[in-house]
Amino acid sequence: MGRVRSNKYEKFRTRMIEEQLLPRGIEDPAVLHAMEVVPRHLFVAGALHAQAYGDFPLPIGHGQTISQPYVVALMTQLLQLTGKEKVLEIGTGCGYQSAILAALCERVYTVERLKPLLARARRTFDQLQIYNIMSKVADGTEGWPDNAPFDAIIVTAAGPQIPQPLVDQLADPGVMVLPVGDQEGQTLMVVRKEAGVVTTNAVESVCFVKLVGIHGWKAA
Ligand code: SAH
Repeated sequence: MGRVRSNKYEKFRTRMIEEQLLPRGIEDPAVLHAMEVVPRHLFVAGALHAQAYGDFPLPIGHGQTISQPYVVALMTQLLQLTGKEKVLEIGTGCGYQSAILAALCERVYTVERLKPLLARARRTFDQLQIYNIMSKVADGTEGWPDNAPFDAIIVTAAGPQIPQPLVDQLADPGVMVLPVGDQEGQTLMVVRKEAGVVTTNAVESVCFVKLVGIHGWKAA
């Protein structure tokens, strides 16, 4: 029974890769492999399992959403991870993006401002026996100074600007991927630090929930 069910989700994942990721330029074999093995459905409520591999975001409670598979894959691919990095993630949410990162780097440090979401994400990491994710409840716009610098930083909520503490906590060389903008429009940005120089590039239009914090939007 369990086996039949897991085969069903494996098929969903294969189809997700063939229909949503490959045609849109996701080609990093390690990223594709992570997307193929991490069971996305286990990060959302049971009633949403059948939709977990669809080409859209899904609600994860508390007004937050898990990004669509393509956006998770794109942001991950932009980090160009080799397996050795220390990665900071802001906005743990359900923990799906964290689990993808955990498969591709040495250690993930993830920060979430909403305690119940992090509690649930941690249970899922335990269930999947993922042990290289460190997490805490805090305002991630301030980064995680005690563990800086980070080889890569990913922010999965959109603020009005690039939070300066995150630029400061980026290693040299280092790369950060984050959406910037408001409800009207947001742009996915890639920030690189190399030989002391910080450069910023826009990648594409995206739609994320709000980054709420000292260096983000004010809480409503
Ligand atoms: N990567 C997540 C996406 C979650 S949505 C996933 O795979 O599910 C973005 C998350 O960012 C939400 O859970 C929201 O609560 C969180 N968030 C917003 N502002 C934040 C901040 N300043 N610090 C930490 N988390 C924040």
